[in-house]
Amino acid sequence: MPDDPDRTAERERMLATIRELFQVTAAETGVAEVPPAVMEALRRVPRHRFVPGHEQALAYADMPLAIGNGQTISQPYMVALMTTLLGAGEGSRVLEVGTGCGYQTAVLAALGAQVFSLEVVQPLAEAAAQRLAGLGYDNADVRHGDGYGGWPEQAPFDAILVTAAAPQVPMTLVRQLRDGGNLVIPVVRGARQVLSVLHREADGDLHRRDVLPVAFVPMVRG
Ligand code: SAH
Repeated sequence: MPDDPDRTAERERMLATIRELFQVTAAETGVAEVPPAVMEALRRVPRHRFVPGHEQALAYADMPLAIGNGQTISQPYMVALMTTLLGAGEGSRVLEVGTGCGYQTAVLAALGAQVFSLEVVQPLAEAAAQRLAGLGYDNADVRHGDGYGGWPEQAPFDAILVTAAAPQVPMTLVRQLRDGGNLVIPVVRGARQVLSVLHREADGDLHRRDVLPVAFVPMVRG
């Protein structure tokens, strides 16, 4: 789109769609509005720079896209929802499992969080690290590694986001979550998946809420 290389108009339409979908799903998710800080982060991240050239025309459509290595970039609505449920903000230390292309990582970084992101597929980890550095996100640290182990050197985290579906909630990750923090994770349930939020209360007790059915690539062992 030569008239608008920054694709501002497309991004604004994406935001409008996200806003509408939040309202449509409010009864299920418990959130009717996208927090202004999350909206602003989504507005600032150039999503088209995270997808392969031949997919760029669809970068702002509300759908997941193939990004190579059999992986996908999440649907914009889902990124907005997970970011909202995570409750992270300026200065939060966030662990992400499943960097993929790094789009969600960039949204968290744009929110002002200190992001630590693990990706099990090495070429994806390398490409995402390079892309994020190239776009100037110096508060995002990407490593090649198996997210099942978390990132003990950087724990505890104020929030943890898993962007691949786990057979069950990995206790290693729960242990790396600070009291008062949220762990957002798609969990396999039978033939389906559900997006769950685990809140670790001040006394360490866990409270789990299942939010809505989702479809993520499976979390694999590295
Ligand atoms: N967060 C991405 C979506 C990533 S798709 C976005 O913004 O669009 C899920 C990613 O999780 C894939 O790249 C996959 O390779 C990765 N993954 C799967 N199992 C993993 C594991 N055990 N540890 C780390 N990453 C894993």
